[in-house]
Formats: sequence, structure tokens, C-alpha cells
Amino acid sequence: QPVLAVVGRPNVGKSTLVNRLLGRREAVVQDTPGVTRDRVAYDALWNGRRFTVVDTGGWEPDAKGLQASVAAQAELAMNTADAVLLVVDAQVGATATEEAVARVLRRSERPVLVAANKVDDERTMAEVHSLWSLGLGEPLPVSGLHGRGSGDLLDRVLESFPATPREKIGGSGGPRRVALVGKPNVGKSSLLNRLTGEERSVVHEAAGTTVDPVDSLVELDGELWRFVDTAGLRKRVKTASGTEYYASLRTKSAIEAAEVAIVLIDGSQPLSEQDLRVITMVVEAGRALVIAYNKWDLVDDDRRRQLEKEIDRELVRVRWAERVNVSARTGRAVAKLAPTLRTALESWDTRIPTGRLNGWLSDLVAANPPPVRSGKQPKILFATQAHTRPPTLVLFTTGFLEAGYRRFIERKFRETFGFVGSPVRISVRVRE
Ligand code: GDP
Repeated sequence: QPVLAVVGRPNVGKSTLVNRLLGRREAVVQDTPGVTRDRVAYDALWNGRRFTVVDTGGWEPDAKGLQASVAAQAELAMNTADAVLLVVDAQVGATATEEAVARVLRRSERPVLVAANKVDDERTMAEVHSLWSLGLGEPLPVSGLHGRGSGDLLDRVLESFPATPREKIGGSGGPRRVALVGKPNVGKSSLLNRLTGEERSVVHEAAGTTVDPVDSLVELDGELWRFVDTAGLRKRVKTASGTEYYASLRTKSAIEAAEVAIVLIDGSQPLSEQDLRVITMVVEAGRALVIAYNKWDLVDDDRRRQLEKEIDRELVRVRWAERVNVSARTGRAVAKLAPTLRTALESWDTRIPTGRLNGWLSDLVAANPPPVRSGKQPKILFATQAHTRPPTLVLFTTGFLEAGYRRFIERKFRETFGFVGSPVRISVRVRE
């Protein structure tokens, strides 16, 4: 989700304008302080598009003087946001401070918009044009007090954001897409036959449906699911040797076509490199993950102990994935698959609003500050969950965060908000 940074001198009416932008019926406000006191992040919704508004606070002269403070704020805005909104008081016009910030913002690679605020009457409207002199394009007249022009301004803000790529896995609605993957002979065909046979409700190439004939529609637990790219499984095509590369490409394309993957593992055999590779493919593709141990009817106490050791040793990376122990032969625990898929997809789809996220993070960071690196204590300025599918957090910081600390944040995030069965990505944007 794109980020808009709002910058401006104190008393230009920045807060009134921000409230006006967010406070309209169409805009949803989340009024919660960000991580640092002088920076506040809000979630906004305009014309069906979500974005985050970061109010960088007024420019109070700090130890280095007003000019330095202004330049620092402008740099921060440019480096962390997708677009910058400079608010100017049209009744006052451009002061030396605005000239200074404009010099910095003109170098911005991100779009910069100028809002001429406090345009409450026609007389001030004439002043608006003088703000062309800032060299930042057309000044947009608004009145934070009366709300004049704020809809147009929001339209311009949305236009200025870089076009976000449409979810290539898009297509909302319809049955959720599942990939049933795993190395050869783990029992994929057997499990699919069990799932379809038991429910007796396969709709395969049904007339009048738009189902891709390589997919199977399967009813599980009262819900229709689309098992993608199962043609090979259903026909039980015998693969010749030397086709492993091809099989792996197929696995990859099935995972990419799906929203959630069931990685099937033969529980009666030692965990193999190939099993781990399939799991990695799912994580890297950012799909929700369920790990199913098959052939559980063959697992005795000895094998079970060995298997638990393998899990501790090899599957720590995906501790967040739920495991189900099934038997395609006996039907054991097969009914657990649907609820497990649902849980994973729910996490995959969930977004924590910016206000809640920052409230939680500021407490967490206060109690467990990031480790000092080369004498500096990195500060986390604010965070936003930029994406779902999979959930992706963006942390805006003043310094590099070690991998261990990022993992700590991920773990706490999962615990606090209950993310199970989905990868969670954390990306850190360091202010230059
Ligand atoms: P695929 O290559 O992953 O599709 O695996 P198949 O479904 O062809 O199964 C490979 C072999 O494992 C076959 O001989 C199946 O009968 C057997 N098999 C599959 N599931 C189970 C199970 O739950 N228990 C036992 N004992 N054997 C199974």
C-alpha cells in the first residue's frame, strides 16, 4: 500500500488538512500515534484505494536550526514515501523555509504535490498562483477549514502514486485455489482420489462451467475448492526417468497458480532434500502452506520419534505452518485438511491496520530495542502492512536491522495477531 508523507511548517494548517483528508465519510481514519512521537501514520481509503498518510510533524527548529530540521524532514519524506505533499499557507505565501524545502524536494525521484492551504476566499485564490515559483508544479488550492478542494487533492494524490501491479494471482471470488504438491510417490494421486471419492462431488470439466480442465473442483467440509493442475494426477500419468526437471517446473507452476499449497510428504520415509525443496518453493512464491504427512498408517513409534527429530532439525524455518498427519489409504485425518487450509488462507488474507500495528510495535520496540550497530541505535520510525497475500510489513527505520531482530519482530507479530500457515515478509526501508 502506497505511503503519502505530508510536510510543512507549523501553523500552515497541516493537521487540519490531514484531518480533512481523512475525516470525510469516504476516508477511514485510524487515529493512533506512530512509533515516534513526532510522526503519525494513518490508514486512508479513497475511491476504493488504500494508502497510508504519514504526518511528519511540524518543523521546529532543533539544535542545528530550522533550516537543518526542514531539510532533514524533507529528506526523510522523500526517502520513505511514495509521494510527498508539501502544505503551504496561501495567505502567507512561500517563505524562506518553503524555498529551502522546495530546493530539497525538487531533487525528489518521487512525485511531489503542493497544497496551497487556507484558500478560504477568492482573494487568497489569487495568491495561489504565486506558489508556482517553488518549482514543484501546479499549486492545488484547498481549505482545510471548509474542506474545499480536498477531493480533488486526493484524486491527484492517487494519480501520483506509482501504479501498483495488480495481484497476478488475482481473481477474487470462486473456489479457493489449492496446489497438491510433493515429490513422486508420496501419495498425491491417492489423496486426491480419496478426497474426490469420499465426497462424490467432483465437478470435472462440467458443462457450462469455466473450470480449466486441468483443475479439479472438490467439495470438502461443505465448501468447494479448486485443486489446480491435477490433470496429471487424475490420469496417473507414469513419468519416465529424466523428467524430474519437468516435474519440478510443473510443481512450480501449480504453486504459482494456487493460493495455498498442501505439501505432501511420505511419513514412512526419511525426510528428503526434495521434500524441503518443494516447501521452499511454496515459501518463496509467498503462498500459504499446509504440511501433510501421508502414509501415517505405516508410521510406528520408532519412525515417529525419528520424524519428530527431523521436524525439529529441518522444519524450524516453517514452524508457522500447520502439520496434519493423514493416510490416503485409510482416510485418517483427511477431514482435518479443509479447516487447516481455511486457517492458512485467513492469515494469508489478513491485514493489520496501521494504527494497531504501530501501537503494538512501539510497545515491543520500547521493551526490546534493536541491537546497537557501529555505535548507533537504529530507530523504527513507523510501520505499515503494505500487502496481504502474503502479509508484508514495511518498517521505516534510521538504520539497518539485523536478521535476528527482524525474525524476532516476525515471531512476535505472528504471536500477537495470530498468523498461522502463511509466510510473513518484513522489508526494511532505511532512511539514507
Ligand atoms: P504420487 O506419485 O504422489 O501421486 O503417489 P501415488 O498416489 O501414486 O502413491 C504412491 C504409492 O503410495 C502407491 O503405491 C500408493 O498405493 C501408496 N500410498 C499412497 N497413500 C498411502 C497411504 O496413506 N498409506 C499407504 N500405506 N500407502 C499409500
